[in-house]
Amino acid sequence: MKVINKINDIRKYVDSLRKRGKTIGLVPTLGALHEGHLSLVRRAREDNDAVVVSIFVNPIQFGPAEDLKKYPRPFRQDRKLCEKEGVDIIFHPSVSRMYPGKDSTGVNVEGLTDKLCGRSRPGHFRGVCTVVSKLFNIVKPHAAYFGQKDYQQFLVIRKMTDDLNFHVKLRLCPIVREKDGLALSSRNKRLSIKERQEALCLNRALKEARRLIKVGKVSGAGLIISRMKRMINSQPGARIDYINICNPETLEDVKIIKGKALAALAVFIGKTRLIDNDVIS
Ligand code: AMP
Repeated sequence: MKVINKINDIRKYVDSLRKRGKTIGLVPTLGALHEGHLSLVRRAREDNDAVVVSIFVNPIQFGPAEDLKKYPRPFRQDRKLCEKEGVDIIFHPSVSRMYPGKDSTGVNVEGLTDKLCGRSRPGHFRGVCTVVSKLFNIVKPHAAYFGQKDYQQFLVIRKMTDDLNFHVKLRLCPIVREKDGLALSSRNKRLSIKERQEALCLNRALKEARRLIKVGKVSGAGLIISRMKRMINSQPGARIDYINICNPETLEDVKIIKGKALAALAVFIGKTRLIDNDVIS
């Protein structure tokens, strides 16, 4: 496995792979890898001749009040995990290599980014789209892998890819959870033992939404959202950022559930903001 820091070096490497007819799968990450990330790596490994994992804590996707400095950077551990999974290249550039001088060009997807996480994290998706489009241009992957955990992010990147004609297939991979249902996230490490227990309310609320929809007795999204809110609010350390039931393509709120619906939520458990979702039909 190679660790490459310089943009020109990775360009040379991927160009030589492409010349030899090899397919390249890209898994973009912020590092602090866990089984959720590794599930994407495994899928990329199955589909491609070579796998590139990018590890880059992208400063421009963090808001001023967010945790950029505190974001974990356990590079040696990440490197071991990648090696074990048969990753070919870790692309691990510095901030100054990715953003030399003043950051002035950004990629902005409109509409989809006004909703859900976009509403509470202004500028976040601009940062994500900018770095992912840079990664697509640098790594020139045949396919790129994203987790459903960040469902809105996937939709936004898909829109960007279509609109800007990036020649790359996008793959959405299922959410990996702990045995008790908590979606894996590098932020889970910040939870105290008590908060870790309280954090289960996110998945419990989603399960309740699924149950109500499946039973077919409740089709009004408002009623389901109130039930979910009640479940979350019963946890003293929980504060709801949003709970939405919406169209899984447009992210527009739905009032009456027909066909597929996305139930998505963001909840602060203490100071830690967690997200989760489920696509229910
Ligand atoms: P991050 O490092 O948080 O930017 O995540 C990198 C990629 O891993 C994103 O596509 C995430 O959606 C995906 N990911 C993070 N957590 C999970 C999870 N629990 N299950 C599946 N994919 C995940």
